[in-house]
Amino acid sequence: MNWAFVGASTIASQHMLGAVRHQTSNEVTWVVSNSPDRVQTWANEHGIPNATTDLDAAFADENVQAVYISSTNEKHHGQAMAAISAGKHVLCEKPLGMTQAEAIEMVRAADTAGVTFGTNHHLRCSGSHRAIRDLIAAGRVGDILSLRIHHAVHLPGNLQGWRINSADAGGGVIPDIVVHDADVTRFLLNEDPVSVVAQMASSGMGQGVEDSCMSVWTMPSGAMVMTHESFTHPFAGSDLQVHGTKGSIFGHGVMTQRPVGSINLVTEAGSEEIPFSDHSLYVQGVSEFVAATIGKGRPAADGPDGVKSLSVALCVREAAASGRRINVDYGGF
Ligand code: NDP
Repeated sequence: MNWAFVGASTIASQHMLGAVRHQTSNEVTWVVSNSPDRVQTWANEHGIPNATTDLDAAFADENVQAVYISSTNEKHHGQAMAAISAGKHVLCEKPLGMTQAEAIEMVRAADTAGVTFGTNHHLRCSGSHRAIRDLIAAGRVGDILSLRIHHAVHLPGNLQGWRINSADAGGGVIPDIVVHDADVTRFLLNEDPVSVVAQMASSGMGQGVEDSCMSVWTMPSGAMVMTHESFTHPFAGSDLQVHGTKGSIFGHGVMTQRPVGSINLVTEAGSEEIPFSDHSLYVQGVSEFVAATIGKGRPAADGPDGVKSLSVALCVREAAASGRRINVDYGGF
Protein backbone atom coordinates (compact mmCIF):
# COMPACT_ATOMS: atom_id res chain seq x y z
CA MET A 1 0.00 0.00 0.00
CA ASN A 2 1.26 3.47 -0.88
CA TRP A 3 0.79 6.30 1.60
CA ALA A 4 0.65 10.06 1.42
CA PHE A 5 1.88 11.75 4.59
CA VAL A 6 0.12 15.04 5.24
CA GLY A 7 2.24 17.07 7.65
CA ALA A 8 6.02 17.28 7.69
CA SER A 9 5.88 16.75 11.42
CA THR A 10 8.00 15.43 14.26
CA ILE A 11 5.76 12.44 14.96
CA ALA A 12 5.89 11.51 11.28
CA SER A 13 9.68 11.58 11.11
CA GLN A 14 10.36 10.09 14.55
CA HIS A 15 7.83 7.27 14.60
CA MET A 16 5.32 6.95 11.78
CA LEU A 17 7.55 6.84 8.73
CA GLY A 18 9.44 3.91 10.23
CA ALA A 19 6.19 2.27 11.34
CA VAL A 20 4.79 2.35 7.79
CA ARG A 21 8.04 1.16 6.25
CA HIS A 22 8.13 -1.71 8.74
CA GLN A 23 4.98 -3.17 7.14
CA THR A 24 5.44 -5.52 4.20
CA SER A 25 4.89 -3.77 0.83
CA ASN A 26 4.02 -0.40 2.38
CA GLU A 27 5.81 2.78 1.32
CA VAL A 28 5.34 6.52 1.71
CA THR A 29 5.26 8.00 -1.78
CA TRP A 30 4.13 11.58 -1.05
CA VAL A 31 4.63 14.16 1.65
CA VAL A 32 2.44 17.27 1.80
CA SER A 33 3.23 20.39 3.79
CA ASN A 34 2.36 24.08 3.69
CA SER A 35 5.93 25.11 3.07
CA PRO A 36 7.56 24.45 -0.34
CA ASP A 37 11.05 24.53 1.18
CA ARG A 38 10.31 22.39 4.19
CA VAL A 39 8.44 19.78 2.23
CA GLN A 40 11.23 19.28 -0.30
CA THR A 41 13.85 19.13 2.43
CA TRP A 42 11.73 16.65 4.40
CA ALA A 43 11.22 14.47 1.32
CA ASN A 44 14.92 14.49 0.52
CA GLU A 45 15.91 13.66 4.08
CA HIS A 46 13.51 10.75 4.25
CA GLY A 47 13.77 9.39 0.72
CA ILE A 48 10.20 10.17 -0.32
CA PRO A 49 9.83 10.55 -4.10
CA ASN A 50 7.08 13.20 -4.24
CA ALA A 51 6.84 16.44 -2.25
CA THR A 52 4.10 19.02 -2.66
CA THR A 53 2.14 21.79 -1.01
CA ASP A 54 -0.90 20.80 -3.08
CA LEU A 55 -3.07 18.29 -1.24
CA ASP A 56 -5.09 17.55 -4.38
CA ALA A 57 -1.97 16.61 -6.34
CA ALA A 58 -1.11 13.91 -3.82
CA PHE A 59 -4.68 12.69 -3.53
CA ALA A 60 -5.07 12.56 -7.35
CA ASP A 61 -2.41 9.83 -7.44
CA GLU A 62 -4.37 6.63 -7.89
CA ASN A 63 -1.45 4.63 -6.56
CA VAL A 64 -1.97 6.20 -3.14
CA GLN A 65 -4.37 4.15 -1.04
CA ALA A 66 -3.79 5.55 2.45
CA VAL A 67 -3.26 8.96 4.00
CA TYR A 68 -1.65 9.66 7.38
CA ILE A 69 -2.48 13.11 8.77
CA SER A 70 -0.13 14.66 11.35
CA SER A 71 -0.47 18.36 10.69
CA THR A 72 -1.41 20.80 13.44
CA ASN A 73 -4.83 20.06 14.87
CA GLU A 74 -6.89 22.74 13.13
CA LYS A 75 -5.98 21.23 9.74
CA HIS A 76 -7.02 17.63 10.45
CA HIS A 77 -10.68 18.06 9.52
CA GLY A 78 -10.24 19.68 6.11
CA GLN A 79 -7.40 17.37 5.12
CA ALA A 80 -9.24 14.24 6.23
CA MET A 81 -12.41 15.27 4.41
CA ALA A 82 -10.39 15.81 1.22
CA ALA A 83 -8.67 12.44 1.58
CA ILE A 84 -11.97 10.66 2.18
CA SER A 85 -13.51 12.40 -0.86
CA ALA A 86 -10.61 11.07 -2.91
CA GLY A 87 -11.41 7.54 -1.69
CA LYS A 88 -8.33 7.11 0.50
CA HIS A 89 -8.12 5.24 3.80
CA VAL A 90 -7.27 7.71 6.57
CA LEU A 91 -5.17 7.32 9.69
CA CYS A 92 -5.53 10.63 11.51
CA GLU A 93 -3.68 12.01 14.48
CA LYS A 94 -5.46 12.90 17.66
CA PRO A 95 -7.33 15.07 18.40
CA LEU A 96 -9.37 14.31 15.30
CA GLY A 97 -10.58 17.89 15.09
CA MET A 98 -11.06 21.14 16.92
CA THR A 99 -14.70 20.36 17.71
CA GLN A 100 -16.81 17.28 18.21
CA ALA A 101 -18.83 18.23 15.11
CA GLU A 102 -15.69 18.16 12.96
CA ALA A 103 -14.70 14.74 14.26
CA ILE A 104 -18.16 13.30 13.74
CA GLU A 105 -18.30 14.63 10.18
CA MET A 106 -14.97 12.99 9.35
CA VAL A 107 -15.94 9.63 10.79
CA ARG A 108 -19.38 9.62 9.17
CA ALA A 109 -17.88 10.63 5.80
CA ALA A 110 -15.39 7.76 5.96
CA ASP A 111 -18.18 5.37 6.81
CA THR A 112 -20.29 6.57 3.87
CA ALA A 113 -17.31 6.39 1.50
CA GLY A 114 -16.47 2.88 2.68
CA VAL A 115 -12.88 3.71 3.56
CA THR A 116 -11.04 2.69 6.71
CA PHE A 117 -10.61 5.42 9.31
CA GLY A 118 -8.24 5.15 12.26
CA THR A 119 -7.27 7.45 15.13
CA ASN A 120 -3.61 7.29 16.09
CA HIS A 121 -4.03 6.59 19.80
CA HIS A 122 -0.75 4.74 20.29
CA LEU A 123 -1.01 3.89 23.99
CA ARG A 124 -3.64 1.18 23.51
CA CYS A 125 -1.19 -0.47 21.11
CA SER A 126 1.45 -0.94 23.81
CA GLY A 127 2.26 -4.29 25.36
CA SER A 128 1.97 -2.69 28.80
CA HIS A 129 -1.56 -1.34 28.37
CA ARG A 130 -2.69 -4.56 26.75
CA ALA A 131 -1.25 -6.56 29.65
CA ILE A 132 -3.08 -4.33 32.13
CA ARG A 133 -6.27 -4.70 30.15
CA ASP A 134 -5.87 -8.49 30.23
CA LEU A 135 -5.37 -8.46 34.01
CA ILE A 136 -8.57 -6.46 34.46
CA ALA A 137 -10.53 -8.63 32.04
CA ALA A 138 -9.31 -11.78 33.82
CA GLY A 139 -10.68 -10.44 37.10
CA ARG A 140 -7.27 -10.29 38.78
CA VAL A 141 -8.16 -7.04 40.61
CA GLY A 142 -11.84 -7.79 41.12
CA ASP A 143 -14.35 -5.00 40.66
CA ILE A 144 -12.75 -1.74 39.57
CA LEU A 145 -12.88 1.00 42.17
CA SER A 146 -10.62 3.60 40.59
CA LEU A 147 -8.12 4.44 37.87
CA ARG A 148 -5.40 7.04 38.31
CA ILE A 149 -3.38 8.38 35.40
CA HIS A 150 -0.35 10.55 36.07
CA HIS A 151 0.64 11.88 32.66
CA ALA A 152 2.51 15.07 33.51
CA VAL A 153 5.53 15.36 31.24
CA HIS A 154 8.04 18.00 30.23
CA LEU A 155 7.42 19.10 26.66
CA PRO A 156 10.74 18.91 24.77
CA GLY A 157 12.12 22.23 23.51
CA ASN A 158 11.58 21.33 19.85
CA LEU A 159 7.85 20.88 20.51
CA GLN A 160 7.39 24.13 22.45
CA GLY A 161 5.68 25.88 19.53
CA TRP A 162 1.99 25.81 18.59
CA ARG A 163 1.20 23.41 21.46
CA ILE A 164 1.94 26.10 24.06
CA ASN A 165 1.07 29.33 22.25
CA SER A 166 -1.64 28.77 19.67
CA ALA A 167 -5.24 28.10 20.56
CA ASP A 168 -6.03 28.47 16.84
CA ALA A 169 -3.79 25.51 15.97
CA GLY A 170 -5.37 23.41 18.72
CA GLY A 171 -2.70 24.00 21.36
CA GLY A 172 -3.01 23.20 25.06
CA VAL A 173 -2.43 20.09 27.13
CA ILE A 174 -6.10 19.11 27.05
CA PRO A 175 -6.36 18.43 23.30
CA ASP A 176 -2.82 17.05 23.38
CA ILE A 177 -2.79 14.64 26.31
CA VAL A 178 -6.26 14.39 27.87
CA VAL A 179 -7.47 12.78 24.64
CA HIS A 180 -4.92 10.01 25.14
CA ASP A 181 -5.94 9.50 28.76
CA ALA A 182 -9.59 9.34 27.76
CA ASP A 183 -8.73 6.69 25.21
CA VAL A 184 -6.65 4.70 27.69
CA THR A 185 -9.46 4.80 30.25
CA ARG A 186 -12.04 3.63 27.71
CA PHE A 187 -9.68 0.93 26.45
CA LEU A 188 -8.88 -0.45 29.91
CA LEU A 189 -12.28 -0.22 31.55
CA ASN A 190 -14.39 -0.88 28.46
CA GLU A 191 -16.82 1.88 29.37
CA ASP A 192 -17.19 5.59 28.59
CA PRO A 193 -16.87 8.44 31.09
CA VAL A 194 -20.25 9.86 32.11
CA SER A 195 -19.30 13.18 33.67
CA VAL A 196 -16.22 15.21 34.51
CA VAL A 197 -15.01 17.92 36.87
CA ALA A 198 -11.68 19.62 36.22
CA GLN A 199 -9.23 22.42 36.86
CA MET A 200 -6.65 23.74 34.40
CA ALA A 201 -3.70 26.10 34.76
CA SER A 202 -0.83 27.73 33.01
CA SER A 203 2.24 26.79 35.04
CA GLY A 204 5.10 28.33 33.09
CA MET A 205 4.78 27.27 29.46
CA GLY A 206 1.25 27.94 28.28
CA GLN A 207 0.79 31.28 26.56
CA GLY A 208 -2.94 31.68 26.11
CA VAL A 209 -3.56 27.95 26.45
CA GLU A 210 -3.49 25.65 29.48
CA ASP A 211 -0.32 23.66 30.08
CA SER A 212 -1.63 21.66 33.04
CA CYS A 213 -4.87 19.97 33.95
CA MET A 214 -6.34 17.72 36.62
CA SER A 215 -9.71 16.10 36.36
CA VAL A 216 -11.98 13.51 37.92
CA TRP A 217 -14.37 11.44 35.85
CA THR A 218 -17.30 9.23 36.80
CA MET A 219 -17.87 5.94 34.99
CA PRO A 220 -21.10 4.01 34.42
CA SER A 221 -19.86 1.19 36.70
CA GLY A 222 -19.31 3.67 39.54
CA ALA A 223 -15.52 3.54 39.20
CA MET A 224 -13.77 6.88 39.64
CA VAL A 225 -11.01 8.11 37.33
CA MET A 226 -8.44 10.76 38.23
CA THR A 227 -6.05 12.17 35.61
CA HIS A 228 -3.21 14.70 35.65
CA GLU A 229 -1.72 16.05 32.43
CA SER A 230 0.98 18.66 32.07
CA PHE A 231 3.74 19.99 29.80
CA THR A 232 5.80 21.42 32.66
CA HIS A 233 6.92 18.53 34.89
CA PRO A 234 10.55 17.52 34.20
CA PHE A 235 10.84 14.81 36.85
CA ALA A 236 7.33 13.53 37.50
CA GLY A 237 7.54 10.38 35.40
CA SER A 238 4.27 8.69 34.55
CA ASP A 239 2.01 6.24 36.31
CA LEU A 240 -1.10 4.29 35.50
CA GLN A 241 -2.80 2.67 38.47
CA VAL A 242 -5.90 0.51 38.55
CA HIS A 243 -7.38 -0.28 41.94
CA GLY A 244 -9.95 -2.97 42.49
CA THR A 245 -11.62 -4.91 45.28
CA LYS A 246 -9.12 -7.78 45.01
CA GLY A 247 -5.94 -6.08 43.89
CA SER A 248 -4.11 -3.11 42.48
CA ILE A 249 -2.11 -2.70 39.28
CA PHE A 250 0.81 -0.28 39.29
CA GLY A 251 2.02 0.62 35.81
CA HIS A 252 5.10 2.78 36.16
CA GLY A 253 6.51 4.78 33.25
CA VAL A 254 4.00 3.33 30.79
CA MET A 255 2.37 6.58 29.55
CA THR A 256 4.98 6.92 26.84
CA GLN A 257 5.73 6.55 23.16
CA ARG A 258 8.19 3.74 23.74
CA PRO A 259 7.68 0.16 24.99
CA VAL A 260 9.18 0.77 28.42
CA GLY A 261 8.13 0.84 32.07
CA SER A 262 7.03 -1.82 34.52
CA ILE A 263 3.83 -3.36 35.80
CA ASN A 264 3.22 -4.77 39.28
CA LEU A 265 0.11 -6.57 40.41
CA VAL A 266 -0.46 -6.42 44.17
CA THR A 267 -2.99 -8.77 45.75
CA GLU A 268 -3.40 -10.66 49.01
CA ALA A 269 -0.83 -13.10 47.62
CA GLY A 270 1.82 -10.37 47.42
CA SER A 271 3.42 -8.36 44.64
CA GLU A 272 3.99 -9.87 41.20
CA GLU A 273 5.88 -8.29 38.32
CA ILE A 274 3.85 -8.64 35.13
CA PRO A 275 5.81 -9.19 31.90
CA PHE A 276 4.67 -7.53 28.70
CA SER A 277 5.60 -7.37 25.04
CA ASP A 278 8.13 -4.71 24.04
CA HIS A 279 6.89 -4.28 20.48
CA SER A 280 6.78 -0.77 18.96
CA LEU A 281 3.49 0.98 19.72
CA TYR A 282 3.42 2.70 16.34
CA VAL A 283 4.33 -0.36 14.28
CA GLN A 284 1.51 -2.22 16.02
CA GLY A 285 -0.99 0.57 15.36
CA VAL A 286 -0.09 0.85 11.68
CA SER A 287 -0.14 -2.93 11.32
CA GLU A 288 -3.72 -3.12 12.65
CA PHE A 289 -4.75 -0.20 10.42
CA VAL A 290 -3.25 -1.86 7.32
CA ALA A 291 -5.01 -5.12 8.17
CA ALA A 292 -8.32 -3.26 8.56
CA THR A 293 -7.98 -1.77 5.07
CA ILE A 294 -8.11 -5.31 3.67
CA GLY A 295 -11.04 -6.33 5.83
CA LYS A 296 -9.07 -7.96 8.63
CA GLY A 297 -10.26 -6.58 11.95
CA ARG A 298 -10.51 -2.94 12.85
CA PRO A 299 -7.93 -0.23 13.48
CA ALA A 300 -6.54 -0.33 17.03
CA ALA A 301 -8.47 2.90 17.62
CA ASP A 302 -11.13 3.63 15.03
CA GLY A 303 -13.16 6.74 14.19
CA PRO A 304 -15.71 6.47 17.00
CA ASP A 305 -12.80 6.00 19.45
CA GLY A 306 -11.39 9.31 18.21
CA VAL A 307 -14.75 11.05 18.51
CA LYS A 308 -15.12 9.79 22.06
CA SER A 309 -11.64 10.74 23.27
CA LEU A 310 -12.14 14.23 21.85
CA SER A 311 -15.60 14.48 23.41
CA VAL A 312 -14.17 13.72 26.86
CA ALA A 313 -11.31 16.21 26.41
CA LEU A 314 -13.64 18.99 25.30
CA CYS A 315 -15.84 18.36 28.34
CA VAL A 316 -12.78 18.48 30.59
CA ARG A 317 -11.91 21.88 29.16
CA GLU A 318 -15.50 23.08 29.55
CA ALA A 319 -15.58 21.82 33.14
CA ALA A 320 -12.30 23.55 33.94
CA ALA A 321 -13.40 26.80 32.30
CA SER A 322 -16.81 26.88 33.93
CA GLY A 323 -16.11 25.28 37.30
CA ARG A 324 -19.12 23.04 36.69
CA ARG A 325 -19.54 19.29 36.43
CA ILE A 326 -20.12 18.43 32.76
CA ASN A 327 -22.01 15.41 31.47
CA VAL A 328 -20.23 13.92 28.45
CA ASP A 329 -22.34 13.84 25.29
CA TYR A 330 -20.82 11.58 22.62
CA GLY A 331 -22.86 13.02 19.77
CA GLY A 332 -24.69 9.79 19.11
CA PHE A 333 -21.56 7.58 19.11
P1 NDP B 1 5.11 19.34 14.80
O1 NDP B 1 5.10 20.68 15.43
O2 NDP B 1 6.39 18.62 14.70
O3 NDP B 1 4.49 19.40 13.34
C1 NDP B 1 3.21 19.96 13.10
C2 NDP B 1 3.31 20.85 11.86
O4 NDP B 1 4.13 21.97 12.16
C3 NDP B 1 3.96 20.15 10.71
O5 NDP B 1 2.98 19.49 9.94
C4 NDP B 1 4.64 21.30 9.97
O6 NDP B 1 3.72 21.92 9.08
C5 NDP B 1 4.94 22.29 11.06
N1 NDP B 1 6.35 22.21 11.44
C6 NDP B 1 6.97 21.16 12.01
N2 NDP B 1 8.25 21.43 12.25
C7 NDP B 1 8.45 22.68 11.80
C8 NDP B 1 9.57 23.54 11.72
N3 NDP B 1 10.77 23.15 12.17
N4 NDP B 1 9.40 24.78 11.20
C9 NDP B 1 8.19 25.16 10.75
N5 NDP B 1 7.09 24.39 10.77
C10 NDP B 1 7.23 23.18 11.29
O7 NDP B 1 3.99 18.49 15.58
P2 NDP B 1 3.95 17.02 16.12
O8 NDP B 1 4.60 16.06 15.23
O9 NDP B 1 4.39 17.01 17.51
O10 NDP B 1 2.35 16.78 16.11
C11 NDP B 1 1.65 16.70 14.89
C12 NDP B 1 0.30 16.05 15.15
O11 NDP B 1 0.51 14.74 15.66
C13 NDP B 1 -0.58 16.75 16.17
O12 NDP B 1 -1.93 16.60 15.79
C14 NDP B 1 -0.33 15.98 17.45
O13 NDP B 1 -1.44 16.03 18.33
C15 NDP B 1 -0.11 14.58 16.93
N6 NDP B 1 0.81 13.78 17.75
C16 NDP B 1 0.44 12.51 18.08
C17 NDP B 1 1.25 11.70 18.79
C18 NDP B 1 0.86 10.29 19.07
O14 NDP B 1 1.61 9.58 19.71
N7 NDP B 1 -0.27 9.83 18.58
C19 NDP B 1 2.55 12.19 19.31
C20 NDP B 1 2.88 13.52 18.85
C21 NDP B 1 2.02 14.27 18.11
P3 NDP B 1 3.76 21.57 7.51
O15 NDP B 1 3.46 20.12 7.42
O16 NDP B 1 2.70 22.42 6.94
O17 NDP B 1 5.16 21.89 7.06
